[in-house]
Order: sequence, then structure tokens, then C-alpha cells
Amino acid sequence: MPEAPKTSPHNRSSSHLNLSQKNTETLHFIEEVTSKPDEIQQQILSEILSRNGHVEYLERHGLAGKTDRHTFKKIMPVIKYEDLQPDINRIANGDKSPILSSDPISEFLTSSGTSGGERKLMPTIQEELERRSLLYSLLMPVMNQFVPGLDKGKGMYFLFIKLEAKTPGGLVARPVLTSYYKSSHFKNRPYDPYTNYTSPNETILCSDSYQSMYSQMLCGLCLHNEVLRVGAVFASGFIRAIRFLEKHWPFLCNDIKTGTLNPEITDPSVRESVLRILKPDTKLANFIETECSKKSWQGILTRLWPNTKYVDVIVTGTMSQYIPTLDYYSNGLPLVCTMYASSECYFGVNLNPLCKPSEVTYTLIPTMAYFEFLPVHRNNVVTSSINVPDSLNEKEQQELVDLADVKLGQEYELVVTTYAGLYRYRVGDVLRVAGFKNKAPQFNFICRKNVVLSIDSDKTDEVELQNAVKNAVTHLLPFDATLIEYTSYADTTTIPGHYVLFWELSVNGKTPVPPSVFEDCCFAMEESLDSVYRQGRASDKSIGPLEIKIVESGTFDKLMDYAISLGASINQYKTPRCVKFAPIVELLNLRVVSTYFSPKCPKWVPGHKQWVDIKSS
Ligand code: AMP
Repeated sequence: MPEAPKTSPHNRSSSHLNLSQKNTETLHFIEEVTSKPDEIQQQILSEILSRNGHVEYLERHGLAGKTDRHTFKKIMPVIKYEDLQPDINRIANGDKSPILSSDPISEFLTSSGTSGGERKLMPTIQEELERRSLLYSLLMPVMNQFVPGLDKGKGMYFLFIKLEAKTPGGLVARPVLTSYYKSSHFKNRPYDPYTNYTSPNETILCSDSYQSMYSQMLCGLCLHNEVLRVGAVFASGFIRAIRFLEKHWPFLCNDIKTGTLNPEITDPSVRESVLRILKPDTKLANFIETECSKKSWQGILTRLWPNTKYVDVIVTGTMSQYIPTLDYYSNGLPLVCTMYASSECYFGVNLNPLCKPSEVTYTLIPTMAYFEFLPVHRNNVVTSSINVPDSLNEKEQQELVDLADVKLGQEYELVVTTYAGLYRYRVGDVLRVAGFKNKAPQFNFICRKNVVLSIDSDKTDEVELQNAVKNAVTHLLPFDATLIEYTSYADTTTIPGHYVLFWELSVNGKTPVPPSVFEDCCFAMEESLDSVYRQGRASDKSIGPLEIKIVESGTFDKLMDYAISLGASINQYKTPRCVKFAPIVELLNLRVVSTYFSPKCPKWVPGHKQWVDIKSS
């Protein structure tokens, strides 16, 4: 993630300092906050509670203005989104009274986590932008310790905004990054060598994703020799940019050859900003053409952007599935995961950014929020399934530990209390303590709870998958065909990646099931998946059409035999609803008799379905 300081972490103006002094000051801040995490956490909690002492939510639970950690932990429940939903709905519908926060809710951040098929709405307050900027401001001083000289060139980052919606009460609802890029913190950032990007703001802020990508790629190519680092937020997004180049390089080369911009780019402000950079350059156009026409695209990044030192993308969590593809395109450049953040709260940074992706740890910055940790237990050694109770009894609520008290090697679910009005809120991420920076723990990101399939920011769990399969198989009824078993797989060998379902059927009817019916099944599944999935398919084009692969009968028995040969217990064996292990995927693929793809994109509109229904009724 790119970005640099607007103000220093100490919140004093640091404009009089030179770059090296600013970097030193930032590193000093990290030293300081990691040296006394407990003291800071106590202060942060007390500040959040004293500011919000009289909000309805805290009064309802009887906190009555108390700000100490002990009372807070004793009285306040540990909650999930669904517990908060009635309050969130009131705010969305226009209730402006101080329900969660004494500061007015400035907007909702739409999370990629969903509830009831719709994006979760995270309340936020104006001031949180400062906190997010602060976390961004830590990234480059940390990076500079390992890769000096990054101030001497540019970053080529593919950054995008997404469509936003309005709640019935008139609050804007949009993803956190859209909110950030549209804020003055980003748009009017003062010149800083670390925010010197190849993409002009206008290209990032263009809501047409084709024009945005085209113009960002064109500027990146024009400025190719100046680029020292490349990236996007998530690995999937960066790979999509490479794919875009694969498809569109002849047009981009033509623009560079002639110094004129493709007429498909119609947004006037985008055109103007690109034309400031684009100059006729036959030599560069020929060079790009030669490289892009080569049969192999291995190392294309280092060929086209020869001074690139690293690829800045998140490859932890489900994004790790993209590491081989990125290694291929970048010829093994370092893959750098700089930060860990969410719509609820920005959490922490990677203090050792050149480490291997499998060793990435995030140091939670104790000033961002008040953090607690719910111990997680692995309940099965073979499947490694994670056991976190859905709702917590009183004893379990007391088991939450503080940032300074987590134990090395132990896994925890992250729970946050934020300035914006989330109190003991379960984020749903599982982290493992991998070490310490001074007294502050550093965490490996283990997984998002329950997620079985993910391609981009979609996060499909077993229940959602089961429901989609259930809706799809109704199409088979007229053919007297039934689904015996199924599993799924996230296929990232295609760009964009897509969901694959392996289905084993029992067909009793006389008429064979026509291909169009299986296509209907694919489409029915897509229509049943949540709003983030459907947006990825229909709007962002970050997910490819869902595929159903029919496997020969007896395949799932073979799968069970194989799992048992690996040590699974016969008595406890359950068909996994998602497979990742390559030999298992191969076992299934070898038995495929036919394959079908979803013929069209599922429906998606910005905002929650209920809001759209209100508007159209
Ligand atoms: P959202 O609420 O849509 O912004 O998504 C936030 C979620 O994305 C987090 O709770 C994590 O599950 C995931 N995420 C964010 N940063 C990282 C990271 N560096 N590594 C792995 N997963 C991440």
C-alpha cells in the first residue's frame, strides 16, 4: 500500500524537517509505541470511553461513564456484526443521535465481509482519516531502511475507486479506500518524494474502471524508467493489471508512438492529466511492442520497468494463492506486504518488509484502537479446522487477553474497540503471535474465519456455498438427477480467477441433462452468492465465470480413500467443501467428464438491496 505522511506521527507539523529527519522521527515513534504497548492501550481505551461515555450503546450496557479497563471488560459484551445491526440500521435510516459515537458518523465504510449477503456497514467518523493517514505514514520510513533511494523515483501503483451508494438516511456508503482516495488527505497531499506516483490523481479518481486502468497503465509505461516500485492493494488487483496490459498493449503502444490518446478515454480530466505525461516516443513504443510480442511473459515486469526493486502487494491470507503467478511475471522480485488493515480499523505494519511472504508479521500499532484477543483452538490436527465459538459465554468473554499479554505461538481472533464506536467487536481474522518488536507482539495473518473460497475481495463461507448449491440443483429436478457430493476450488490459473465446483451426480431420468441446464445451475449459484462476489463478477470484472465440472461416479469415494490414506479418520471423515491441496485437485480433475461455465454475469447494484427497493418503490 502506498502513501506517505501528511503530518508526523507525533502530530506536530514536520514540514521543517528534511526527509531523513522525518524518517528518523517516524522510526522513533514506532520504537516508542512498541516499547510500552500496555500503557498506550490503557490510555487509548480510556480516551475512547471518556469521549463516548454517554452514547446510547454504552449506557444501554450500563457502563455509565466508567473508563477503566477492568469495568469495561466485565460489563461489555464481545459482539459480532449481527449484534450491532439494529443500531447500524437506525444510523443508516437517518437517526443522528449519539448511538455509538459522540462524534457524528461521517459515512459508512462497506466491508468486504458480508452479513445476510450484503456488505457489512462500518460506521466511521471524520477523525479516523487522520488515524489511517498515520498508519500509511509509517510505511515508507520503514521501507527506506531496507531499500534506500526510493525517493529518487516513482511508484507505479494501480489504485481504483468503486461506486458508492447512499443509505436511506443519506449517509454515503463506500469502501474504505474509495473514501480515502477521495479525501483531501490523499487528493491534496503536499509534495512528498514517497507519494510520487506515475498515476495522476485524476486517473485514480475516475469511476470508469476501464478508463482508470488504461490511463494508469499508459502513464506507467511512459514513465517506465523512473519507476522504482510497483504495486496494487491486493495481489489479485496487480495481476489484473498485467492481464490488462496483455490484452491492450497494441493500443497503448499506438498512443505512445503517436503521442495521442485512445478516443475510448473520454473523461476530460483523465485525458488532460494523461496528455501532460504522454509524448510521442517511437523508441519507447517499439521497445514495449518487442517485449510484449515475445511468446513468454516471464519477467515482463522487470523487462518493462527495469529499475523496479519490489512488488508492493498483499500476498498474505488468501492472496498467497497468487505468489507463483507474481514470481513468474516479476522474475522473483521481492513481494512486499506492508500493512494490515480493514474497514473497521487500520491495524498494523510489517516492520521487516523484505522477508518471505510466508514469514510476514504485522506489528499492531497500539495507538490505532484498543485491541483484545480471543484465544483460538485447533480442534483437528488433520484438517486444521479452527474452533472459535460463534457466540461467547461469560467465561469465554473473560478469556480475552490484552495486546501486551498474548503468548508466543498462540492463535487468536482479533477483537477491536475503535474511536468510531465499535466496542469489543470481533473482526473475524485469526492471527498467530510470531514474535515481538520491543514489547509489542507481531502477528502472522492466519486466515479469515470460515472463508472457504476467495478470488479477490470476495469471501465465501461454507454456508453461503451450500445455499448456492442448493438453489442451483433445483434445475436438475425435471431430469431426475440428484447431486450426490460436491466440493469447490478457487482456480487462479485463469485471470481473473474463478470458482470451480466439482459435482458428482446420480442421473435416473431417461433424458440426459442438457448443457444449457448445467449453465443455468452455474448462473443460479452466482445469483445466490453475496453482493461482494456479484460485484466482482459484474462490475469489477475481478472474478471470472463460475464453472461446474461434472465428475464420474465414484470420484468422491476415491477422494475419501485418499484422505484416509493421508491420515484422516474414517469415522470422522466429511467431504471437504473446498479443496486446495494439489494432489486432491488433480484427483478430481482426472475424473471430469464435462464442464460448464456461467453464461452471463449475475445481477449487482451498488448499495444494499433494501435501499434499492426503497428507491424504486
Ligand atoms: P475490508 O473490511 O473489506 O477492508 O477487509 C478487511 C479484511 O481484509 C481484513 O479483516 C483481513 O481479513 C483482510 N486483510 C487486510 N489486510 C490484510 C493483509 N495484509 N493480509 C491478509 N489479509 C488482509
